[in-house]
Amino acid sequence: MSAVPFVDLSVAPDDAEVRAAIESVLAAGSLILGPEVDAFEREFAEYCGSGHCVGVSSGTAALELILRGMGIGAGDEVIVPAYTAIATWMAVSEVGATPVAVDVDACYGIDPRAAAAARSPRTRAVIAVHLLGRPLDLNAVADALPDVPIIEDCAQAHGARIGPKRVGSSGIAGAFSFYPTKNLAALGDGGAVITDDAALADRIRLLRSFGWRTRSESLIRAGNARLDEIQAAVLRVRLRRLDAGNARRATIAAEYTARLTDVPGVHPPGGHAWEDSVWHLYVLRTSTPAVLQKFLRERAVAALRHYDPLPHQAQAFADMAGATPLPIAELLASESLSLPMGPHITSNDIDSVVDAITEWAAAGRPGGAGAS
Ligand SMILES: *Cc1c(COP(=O)(O)O)cnc(C)c1O
Repeated sequence: MSAVPFVDLSVAPDDAEVRAAIESVLAAGSLILGPEVDAFEREFAEYCGSGHCVGVSSGTAALELILRGMGIGAGDEVIVPAYTAIATWMAVSEVGATPVAVDVDACYGIDPRAAAAARSPRTRAVIAVHLLGRPLDLNAVADALPDVPIIEDCAQAHGARIGPKRVGSSGIAGAFSFYPTKNLAALGDGGAVITDDAALADRIRLLRSFGWRTRSESLIRAGNARLDEIQAAVLRVRLRRLDAGNARRATIAAEYTARLTDVPGVHPPGGHAWEDSVWHLYVLRTSTPAVLQKFLRERAVAALRHYDPLPHQAQAFADMAGATPLPIAELLASESLSLPMGPHITSNDIDSVVDAITEWAAAGRPGGAGAS
């Protein structure tokens, strides 16, 4: 039985397209904000069905520039889900605003009722996170928070659809990460903002690079959050493969679910709510995820805990802990285990993962609370 890695970030020796894309940038000698970034921005905006795309240096930068572009900063509050990557919260605190945590529902999405209760006169926006690849119901968020702009954090949901629309194209703006583990991945850091608001897109372009309209005129004060040409060239190739990769993830997820449904002690993410997911992560629930994780590791299967600790449990946000009880997020965090997922997973890998989990269950879940 060979090892099953959680992700595979290597570029195959026979991946001629990605290698040729890099070579062409090397030959052209234009390395920052050139023709590849322009072309990627056009192609990604079109793919997402959005009017504008601005390539930036990371998903966190994308969120920060959206917030800054909206004029959000010190004294402002932004509603965020308790269950998310810590980057969602960090973007808010980095612009000087306060992340206001609200609990999630059993499908890891922000709970609209909790969001409504968290609203205050200082609320300037809500960040709706399409977590794990599952598109969130934005209508429910909009109904709960009338007139509050919705920023979509799409870092885990490239290409996911809400009805006919891709994520990121319904709110005021969508933020994407191209971190190497994401469904659309660069060979390093990268990110993008999409929006239909031309004025916001224009401000974000200025915020991306020293407030420059042209190299000689800085119109506003701003830092550097640029996407580079090599990453953009690689992203153009991989954008053409995104739908196939997402379809492969859905097949793997369906296989996991079919084969784990009757295994005692583990609960696959099932049912209607997950139909449209692009399966960035495949997250099981079990009462002792750390124990199962260790059992799998001994069988060379890599499983990870997303997200433990949660942002409000991190030392960085210790001053905000306890403001609101977050029982569902904490329950999910204590029960979640992510299985290896991605286009690299073979049917032999699926066998190895399922066999190891079945072995653990058959042995009475050794080491866990279910062992008795
Ligand atoms: C990865 C991620 C981010 C941050 O993206 P970076 O490119 O790493 O800055 C933000 N939000 C979510 C939900 C993520 O998964």
